[in-house]
Amino acid sequence: MFPGGEIKALKHQIKDLLHSSRLWVALAVLAPIGMLMASGAMLIELRQDAWSEAQQTASNLLQVIARDVDRNIEVIDLSLQGAVENLHAPKSAEATPELRQRILFDRAATARDIGVMLILDENGDAVFDANGVPPRTVNNSDRDYFQWHKKWPDLGLHISRPVISRLTGVPITVLSRRINKPDGSFGGIVLASLRLSYFVRLCENLGLGSNGGINLYLRDGTRLVRYPYSDADVGVNIAGTPNFDRFVAEGSGSFVGKSTRDGVERLYTFTQIGELPLVLNVGLATADIEGKWRSKAAVIAAVMVVLCGLAGGLALLFGRELRRRTAIQAELARLSSTDALTGLFNRRHFDYELERALGDARRNRKSLSLLIVDADHFKSVNDRHGHIVGDEVLKGLARGLSASVHRPGDLVCRLGGEEFAIILQSTDRDGALIVSQKVHSEIRQVAVEKAGISAGSVTVSIGLAVAGQSETMSVETLYQRADGALYEAKANGRNQTRCAVEPAENDQQPHLLRLVKRS
Ligand code: GH3
Ligand code: MG
Ligand code: MG
Repeated sequence: MFPGGEIKALKHQIKDLLHSSRLWVALAVLAPIGMLMASGAMLIELRQDAWSEAQQTASNLLQVIARDVDRNIEVIDLSLQGAVENLHAPKSAEATPELRQRILFDRAATARDIGVMLILDENGDAVFDANGVPPRTVNNSDRDYFQWHKKWPDLGLHISRPVISRLTGVPITVLSRRINKPDGSFGGIVLASLRLSYFVRLCENLGLGSNGGINLYLRDGTRLVRYPYSDADVGVNIAGTPNFDRFVAEGSGSFVGKSTRDGVERLYTFTQIGELPLVLNVGLATADIEGKWRSKAAVIAAVMVVLCGLAGGLALLFGRELRRRTAIQAELARLSSTDALTGLFNRRHFDYELERALGDARRNRKSLSLLIVDADHFKSVNDRHGHIVGDEVLKGLARGLSASVHRPGDLVCRLGGEEFAIILQSTDRDGALIVSQKVHSEIRQVAVEKAGISAGSVTVSIGLAVAGQSETMSVETLYQRADGALYEAKANGRNQTRCAVEPAENDQQPHLLRLVKRS
């Protein structure tokens, strides 16, 4: 009969919805943060991978090039040493020039990329030429390497600064050894020129990236050659620059530095070539190393921005929709317990509240009073003035009833038609009678001037029933008792309150009703 449980369940549902809305909005905020963190970690790892791959590539290139240069120079040096030995071989002087030339340069053919190979006498004039007999006419006494050997008997193998060959016209470096006369004095030099194009060919197709470079330096800081090749790079001395100081000081290793040549930041991987006075480096531009990673990062960042934007947008929409639903639910809950005409609580809410209040009263051993209020001859109001005026009177009645109660636990409801109820918690019969008198006097104020209904013309009859402190009365009994009292009030002439006699005082006369007040 009293479906109060449904309202309770509805309230729980609204609460649950609120809780879940918070949860989902929190998830919608946390999810993009999680995605950002995960993609950030992934990008950091991808960047590290790009760098270790570059380091590996550079060190592989370095090894391959260094080994080739070392091996090639070793072969050329063997030819130089062979020529020095053969020059002093016994009976060599007695051989014909053609034979001597072949004996002297027999090993030269094995060395790749040799430009010219000559033996110069102490004056710098070519006396033997691997190219043929007689030797081509050339004097190299002015060259640095010639002067070094002349000055330093123990120089050993000398690798010259880059020069343009007088015989072939191409850039070369000259490898040379001193020739001593039998008495130990300077007897000239044997030299072989190595074309710089050899190095360029060696470095071709290595996949350096558009800003990468490979450099071969003499230990004094003179650049022999750079790949990609440019005439302007040949012979430039970079001794004293921070990068070159590290090449020399550390021997081999790698670091990121800015190029003194073009200002480009590169990963330099470097080594000294064998025992030779040569420094080799491979420089991979930071921009090339991170190029692929940067484009990946841009795509991932763009996707993340879109996803986070979507998630944020969805979170906003979701939150708004949930709030809207919550508001609708709350409004529905309010409407389901409210009477539309008067704004009072309706019958549904009355049933729920009466059951709850009676339960509380029983538990707390308090009295509970119920007043059922019914307008007198209301049908005639409608008949005479019409329904619209009748509704105005009903609203006036609702205002009058609401004005009659003041305690927080008091509840005024419209049961239907022109019938109302007032639940008074913790209120005994005397208290309830005071309220009923207040109701009669408030209702006397009800008037609808424009319809000619003046104050005092509207009256109500009230049936009162009280559940005493020590009683266990059911809701149905309490209601029937109040209804019975109302019937008596009507029967006794209306415009009055009748109180159902409490069981204790009515043991002998169970149906006696007491007239309490007639206005
Ligand atoms: P009594 O003194 O015996 O209570 O007489 P009564 O005319 O008030 O009682 P009855 O139950 O015969 O009539 C109730 C009338 O209330 C019937 C109907 O015209 C009117 N009524 C019920 N609900 C509404 C409503 O919502 N608006 C209006 N204007 N009138 C209503
Ligand atoms: Mg009536
Ligand atoms: Mg009625």
